[in-house]
Amino acid sequence: MSDCKTIAICNQKGGVGKTTTAVNLGIGLAMNGKKVLLVDADPQGDLTTCLGWQDTDALSITLATKLAEVMREEPSDPMSGILHHEEKVDVLPANLELSALEMSLVTVMSRETTLRTYLEQVKDHYDYILIDCMPSLGMITLNALAAADSVIIPVQAQYLPAKGMTQLLQTVSKVKKHINPSLKIDGILLTLVDGRTNLARSTVEALRANFGSVMRIYKASIPSAVKAAEVSSKGKSIFAYEPSSPASKAYTDFTREVLASGRQKERLRSANAR
Ligand code: ADP
Ligand code: MG
Repeated sequence: MSDCKTIAICNQKGGVGKTTTAVNLGIGLAMNGKKVLLVDADPQGDLTTCLGWQDTDALSITLATKLAEVMREEPSDPMSGILHHEEKVDVLPANLELSALEMSLVTVMSRETTLRTYLEQVKDHYDYILIDCMPSLGMITLNALAAADSVIIPVQAQYLPAKGMTQLLQTVSKVKKHINPSLKIDGILLTLVDGRTNLARSTVEALRANFGSVMRIYKASIPSAVKAAEVSSKGKSIFAYEPSSPASKAYTDFTREVLASGRQKERLRSANAR
């Protein structure tokens, strides 16, 4: 059995810090010796450009290529076209072709499990696969949820996300029921927290009241910081760009929590095996 954990970073709202979290959690895990694949599942290709591949149109192999190969049942090397970033993470990039592919998926048999079928072929190479989802609950995001072991939901602290959250949770439970029974929600990560306001605190309280019984809210939260915004154009992580910043420390703490829940799972598994 593969020990790889696949995590979808998901929220259908844009601008909540999904991509920033995928990049910095991925590189944070790699700094802890984990082998990590970051999958850009957004036709905007933000994760790809954030990591330094600015001209996404020039990429000959992207996630769309891999999904098309699965759809056509075409044998090929699943690792070809995966990019290697200098901070020791691998990247499966994306560009606008993913939009066209999403439309063609609709008519395919097993249309929700195409990404899962692809990732099964590369899992053995990795400890973690992080999928950076696009801001919608369309077919590509359903594929991400079908392929994932768990979901991390970044939530922007300034907004009470009650309505959007309900929709997201309904989608997760539908995916659980019909396609991926073992899917779990790992937790909510508060992002873009502005220390000068009480809003973050009231958002946390509202989240706890509404969802605290069904999921965890990570202890770490990510402060809103100019450095964290700047880093997206630098092709590197916050750890390399500004290691002593509060955002860097926050992502270090968050990475630790994600690693700790992984270890908990390992312990449970070995306890069950005994
Ligand atoms: P999403 O993937 O959910 O759309 P992004 O990670 O792309 O969100 O973040 C949205 C915008 O906010 C980007 O311009 C990004 O650089 C910026 N950003 C992300 N995290 C922070 C932060 N902690 N502080 C300030 N700006 C941030
Ligand atoms: Mg994004």
